Amino acid sequence: MQVSVDRDRCCSSGMCVLNAPDYFEQDDRDGLVRLRETAFRSERSADLRLAAELCPSGAILITEDDDPAAA
Ligand code: SF4
Repeated sequence: MQVSVDRDRCCSSGMCVLNAPDYFEQDDRDGLVRLRETAFRSERSADLRLAAELCPSGAILITEDDDPAAA
């Protein structure tokens, strides 16, 4: 699993920080999302999926390792 964020789309809602605080944080200056970690543990994937699902701007992209588009 790979996770990326598009700061150009982020609207600083903070939903991802509420749902997956181990992985997301907001920039102190502008409130835009930042990834805290780049290594994602599979047992926490539910948090990441929920964060992506609830992001109001669609700024969180999850790519599965077995996704041929990710190769
Ligand atoms: S939930 Fe989406 S819009 Fe809100 S801070 Fe996180 S990435 Fe940005």
